[in-house]
Amino acid sequence: MTGGEGTVSGNRGLDLEEPLIFEQDVSGRTGVDLPEPGWVATDRLGGLRRKGPIGLPGLSEPQVVRHYTRLSQKNYGIDSGFYPLGSCTMKHNPRLGEKMARLPGFADIHPFQPDSTVQGALELMDTLARWLKELTGLPAVALSPAAGAHGELCGLMAIRAALEARGDARSRVLTPESAHGTNPATAALCGYAVESVPGNRDGRVDFGALRERLGPDVAAVMLTNPNTCGLFETDIVRIAEAVHEAGALFYLDGANFNALVGRVRIADLGVDAMHINLHKTFATPHGGGGPGAGPVVLSEALAPFAPVPYVVHGPDGFSLVEHARGSGSGPLPLGRLKGFHGQFGVLVRALAYMMSMGGDGLALASGDAVLNANYLLARLKDELSLSFPGPCMHEVLFDDRFLKDTGVSTLDFAKALIDEGYHPMTMYFPLVVHGALLMEPTESESRETLDRFVDVVTSLAARAKTKDAEFFRQAPRLTPRRRLDETLAARRPVLRWTRGSDETTAKGTS
Ligand SMILES: *Cc1c(COP(=O)(O)O)cnc(C)c1O
Repeated sequence: MTGGEGTVSGNRGLDLEEPLIFEQDVSGRTGVDLPEPGWVATDRLGGLRRKGPIGLPGLSEPQVVRHYTRLSQKNYGIDSGFYPLGSCTMKHNPRLGEKMARLPGFADIHPFQPDSTVQGALELMDTLARWLKELTGLPAVALSPAAGAHGELCGLMAIRAALEARGDARSRVLTPESAHGTNPATAALCGYAVESVPGNRDGRVDFGALRERLGPDVAAVMLTNPNTCGLFETDIVRIAEAVHEAGALFYLDGANFNALVGRVRIADLGVDAMHINLHKTFATPHGGGGPGAGPVVLSEALAPFAPVPYVVHGPDGFSLVEHARGSGSGPLPLGRLKGFHGQFGVLVRALAYMMSMGGDGLALASGDAVLNANYLLARLKDELSLSFPGPCMHEVLFDDRFLKDTGVSTLDFAKALIDEGYHPMTMYFPLVVHGALLMEPTESESRETLDRFVDVVTSLAARAKTKDAEFFRQAPRLTPRRRLDETLAARRPVLRWTRGSDETTAKGTS
């Protein structure tokens, strides 16, 4: 399994083998030297006092530094190379944003500080909110949701609260079959029955099928635009009208706003609520589960239900409204979605990105994102199999018809790309085509990078067509670990390390 076959150490050149941190434990070793806390009033601790060690590994500071540095070197990130992961928008993160997020006035403050001492931070949130409202044309925004999925939850909770406030609780939510899994999951979490709407032959929502499913029990339709096939939903205005005629609300999954920003005013599409993945559209190092931020813009009808906290600007400066009032004719906020005020560091990076790009720069970026995806489409459409005719928006969808009868699967093909030094594209999503390969180059890649990538993909496709399935099944050959048993990893995850054992043991349930 290890990559270091043939070396004494198990290392592979400068790619160093790294044991788990618990396997490096030397009991009692530590990187710090603290005095005995003799002053603690032990009598007052009572039963809270620990009875024994809690099993933290003992390591020196240099060991810890090497451990995490080695792990980071095994990782692949947008700073190491091209990362065409469809739907995820892995693009360059300008260093300016990092510098801004580290300014002491943003990084070293505490959420419990009085408002008067954090006026700059509050003004930043207020300014970001104004940019988001301007870019979408919608009148309100909730900044606190911590990711796209969390934004969906916020939007659907606001929809539910608004419907209940008008005495019209409804039971169903419609989502297209190409939807990101978070859409139906969110609707189900909010207590709705989820119904899927089929797509048409061009990869877009089938308008007739959608209209048939609308009725007085439909609370909302959730649509993604551009959708997960990388296509603009050309019927979107008609869809919004039909949704409103049925008394339902129209939720737009705006995770792919990076394809529209500066070019489409979301309010003009008839949208009631939309989340924006700041970490996709407005740059933030993300992946591996965080960090992100998913602000939600809301229409006039939904604005009173925005969650707390939100920033208000009065004669004495900026302040935070932190408590749900929830009575009378004023706002009826749905409460708090997250501790404190959201992912503040991501908000800082997003505003730094917006202000440094400017309105014109944002429009150029969305244009270049679409141009780059269409460049991949044009150069690869004869080598792979294009799922839907172009032009596409910010991402391009291929499927596995080009691998027919070769014995090579989408997974094998993706693994071979790893040996070539690329993070694979998104595989097997969306589910509406067989063996999907979804590529999103983003605006930050140069033509030379795209050309090199196309050359690699083209030659791998040619090799697959020679039916050299064994070559693909052996990939990746050059990584620190070869192909893992993903089924075993999912079904019997190793979650716990037991002190005293030489090996990590699988304590996860199967
Ligand atoms: C990324 C994405 C989401 C979820 O966003 P997270 O920040 O990962 O929770 C939802 N919908 C679409 C279309 C996405 O691409």
